[in-house]
Amino acid sequence: MSRLPSDSAQLEFLIGIQRILGEGSFVASYKYALLLALAELSIEKTALSDGTLPIELDQLADRFIALYWRQVAPFRGKNVLVQSTGRQASIISKIAAFKATTPTLALARGKRSWQRLIRDVGRLLVSMPLWKLQLVGRERLEFLYDEHLVEMCVVLRPGVAACFRAQFAVVQALVQTAWLSFVQRLPLNRTILGSMSDLSEFLFGAERSGLRSISDGLLDLQRGACFYCAGKLREGGEVDHFIPWSRYSLDLGHNFVLAHASCNRDKRDMLAAPCHLARWVNRNNVEDIALQEIFDAARFPFDSGASFGVAKWAYENAEKSRALVWVSRGQDVRLTGDWRGLLV
Ligand SMILES: [Zn+2]
Repeated sequence: MSRLPSDSAQLEFLIGIQRILGEGSFVASYKYALLLALAELSIEKTALSDGTLPIELDQLADRFIALYWRQVAPFRGKNVLVQSTGRQASIISKIAAFKATTPTLALARGKRSWQRLIRDVGRLLVSMPLWKLQLVGRERLEFLYDEHLVEMCVVLRPGVAACFRAQFAVVQALVQTAWLSFVQRLPLNRTILGSMSDLSEFLFGAERSGLRSISDGLLDLQRGACFYCAGKLREGGEVDHFIPWSRYSLDLGHNFVLAHASCNRDKRDMLAAPCHLARWVNRNNVEDIALQEIFDAARFPFDSGASFGVAKWAYENAEKSRALVWVSRGQDVRLTGDWRGLLV
């Protein structure tokens, strides 16, 4: 279990994030995407024993593109939203052009030209937001990372990844709110936006379209039985996010299981009890190749290491907050440390 930063360290970290959002200068939305990318990768990756976390520039660029991927679709079928105070930011146009010929991220990552896009975005990160993010007025805060690359990695300072993990929900809410109001305020977006009620859903909502296509594969793999109660799935079942979407909104293949609609509904936004976690870990290890085939066929992104990382983070936080976890219809228990040996 990673060491929890002290309350005062977490508070200082959040104050730093708020100063960046409140006092930093924003000519484009890049800094928001960068902050969210750093927060997400802090959850999916494992920090080194000294508490630092190196993140490869290419990986950061990949996540940065993923965050913009849904946003570069034409808003309500009209125009792509502007993401900078001047004309459209050039990298947004590049990502939009890529998406126009390649509808899904999984397909895009398989194209040879993807590497060029990653390089372009990496260059943009270095020339724009990376070394400007921690500049607040004339003051340089430099609390997240040192301002140079080490072997093509941005290195989060000791304890920073742990703070992102502990305060993820707060950081995400702060950044998304600031990003939303930045996009709303840009004059060029006013004609596109009209009434803005669905903007938040458009920018940060779920991309659920591919879910149906993996349910057939999962039905086969689970031999027609519900993942949770092992009862027969007569109606085909529902694809469930093992780690609930409300806790971590990233669709990665290994997170999906097929369950009764009634089991899924009863589980709601809770984590599943350790007995289910054990089966989930086992399934992902034993059936790894079959799962990859299902995800590839459905053109769905997957990364088992990241899925395990997210699960570890979710259970760590649940244990710290003494959360209830779901056992079966109508039955919850308090999470204890039993889960820890399952996710090593
Ligand atoms: Zn069931």
